[in-house]
Amino acid sequence: MILVLKKGITQKEKDYIVRILKEDGCIIREIVGVEETVLGAVGRVSRDLRFYELLPGVARVIPISKSYKLVSREIHPHNSQVKIGDVVVGGDRIVVIAGPCAVESREQAIEIARKVRRYGAVLFRGGAFKPRTSPYSFQGLGEEGLRILAEVREDTGMAVVTEITSPNQADMMMKYVDVVQVGARNMQNFELLRCVGRMGKPVLLKRGLAATIEELLMSAEYILSEGNDNVILCERGIRTFERYTRNTLDLTAIPVIKKLTHLPVIVDPSHATGIREKVIPMARAAVAAGADGLIVEVHNDPEKALSDGPQSLYPHQFERLMRDIYVIAPVVGKQLDFSYLDKALFIKQEIVARGEVGQKKVVFLGEPGSFGHKACIQYFGESVEISPMSSFREVFDAVQHGNASFGIVPLENTLTGSIHENYDLLLEYDLNIVGEITLRVVHNLISHPGSRIESIKRVFSHPQVFQQCREFLERHKEWELVSARDTATSVRRVKERRNPEEAAIASKKAAEIHGMEVIKEGIETNPRNYTRFVVISRQKLTNGPARKSSLIYSTSDTPGALYKTLRIFAENGVNLVKLESRPIHGKPWEYMFYVDLEADVESPEFQKILDELRRKTEYLKILGSY
Ligand code: PEP
Ligand code: MN
Repeated sequence: MILVLKKGITQKEKDYIVRILKEDGCIIREIVGVEETVLGAVGRVSRDLRFYELLPGVARVIPISKSYKLVSREIHPHNSQVKIGDVVVGGDRIVVIAGPCAVESREQAIEIARKVRRYGAVLFRGGAFKPRTSPYSFQGLGEEGLRILAEVREDTGMAVVTEITSPNQADMMMKYVDVVQVGARNMQNFELLRCVGRMGKPVLLKRGLAATIEELLMSAEYILSEGNDNVILCERGIRTFERYTRNTLDLTAIPVIKKLTHLPVIVDPSHATGIREKVIPMARAAVAAGADGLIVEVHNDPEKALSDGPQSLYPHQFERLMRDIYVIAPVVGKQLDFSYLDKALFIKQEIVARGEVGQKKVVFLGEPGSFGHKACIQYFGESVEISPMSSFREVFDAVQHGNASFGIVPLENTLTGSIHENYDLLLEYDLNIVGEITLRVVHNLISHPGSRIESIKRVFSHPQVFQQCREFLERHKEWELVSARDTATSVRRVKERRNPEEAAIASKKAAEIHGMEVIKEGIETNPRNYTRFVVISRQKLTNGPARKSSLIYSTSDTPGALYKTLRIFAENGVNLVKLESRPIHGKPWEYMFYVDLEADVESPEFQKILDELRRKTEYLKILGSY
């Protein structure tokens, strides 16, 4: 049941309610909302619900309509996140788990782990106890396999996931692994579910071969009812009459599960299809359908794999898949990072080195709900302190003077081009670009609850946003456009002014934060509206190879000077992904060139190219490799 508490409830009244519920054997969850606070209580209560309704401080009692309770969104309206070390499943980042079906040897596991990590996997999978259809098939290395998994973690820094097939293995699992998987064949092994519930480690619960979504959720309920909320659901295909694939991937399960439960859901395209060439398209589709992550089988030598070779990707195929996911993720408001683990490590080292724990860490322009804020959360997660600034210069100043470890600033937008102010600041300040993040920007017309588009007379937003929504705004020529510092500020202003004839243009998140309503969704002229942000820091990112670099340079004012620099890239096979010129202040008609390359210019191999470039330029500054 859900107990909605009265607005003016005292702490004493609340403590009393909680005590009664506990005495009645309930598991309790408190949900603090903007409008009201509620207590979710789950257990086999024998009293009439009216008893609870009459307790002082209770406004009303609502029975939970579903057969599953703790996993239901009714009791936990927001998405829950499962944390495994630095990895967060259920946030804005697509989490990819990769590795072989089974651990076969130390060499095999480490080789695959290093490869999948390089391509962006953040967790390693590998079975040590394999539930095989035939008793004569390879059954896994047992405890030796778990020891190898622990070595993989030591070697790569990746947390490891493996299947538990019996409660007898619990102690061993506690010793060696980070996430325990309950396989499809054991989804309704209730003893095992209770056991992993008591273990407390994050659980990856796979949907049974012939299980309904409701049965999957009931199985998750077993785990949560033992006090373990760290459950990740996994759709891995179900048995149907179709025989061209091993199973049938039920992609509809993703939005259905997302609606019913707060738990994260990932997809296993490998067991779902059973065929290597079908894995990539289904993995792409899963991300597009809203999955929080993927678990994919990858093998260094699939032809010789001891299990599930035909469905295991070659490492180079996995790399291609990751590049596709990198592109797809922003379309659904998410992100994939090829070097997330290195970055997370770097950020921790950076914070520890400066003894800054608990102080301001990341700065951006705007306020909560703005796209700058979203970029911070997507890049750094929610455990880092994020602090708003009132100008881009303030962002640069804060980082330069050590008041923040990182800043995030937009550099370019696909509809409106470069944000020149930040290019100029990059030249002026002595800071490094250490990362980048691309967000899809969806704009919405937002007003007071109940407002109608017909009555709008005045609209607030950032001037760039008006440009991005030009076609929509041209249909409403009579509207007065008022510029604001950022999108989220415009929503706050409209709210404070309480005028139903006013609206703002901003993200859905900004509307949510301020309790306002989206009255028209997706009003940007072109849906391919992306903004690229860069992360700036005083320190360089030292971990791992970089994929991209940004440079600024000027050349002499002689014929072919720019061409000579570009020739260096062409002749060395370096891909140029951006070239832009900006006037040099105080030198009319002279220009600086801003260049992005697909190369690590700080790597030893690049030094010869860099020397050559230095000879052909008058001024050269490396903004960073990331
Ligand atoms: C596995 O992940 O290796 C596995 C056996 O999966 P499932 O339980 O989904 O068949
Ligand atoms: Mn397998």
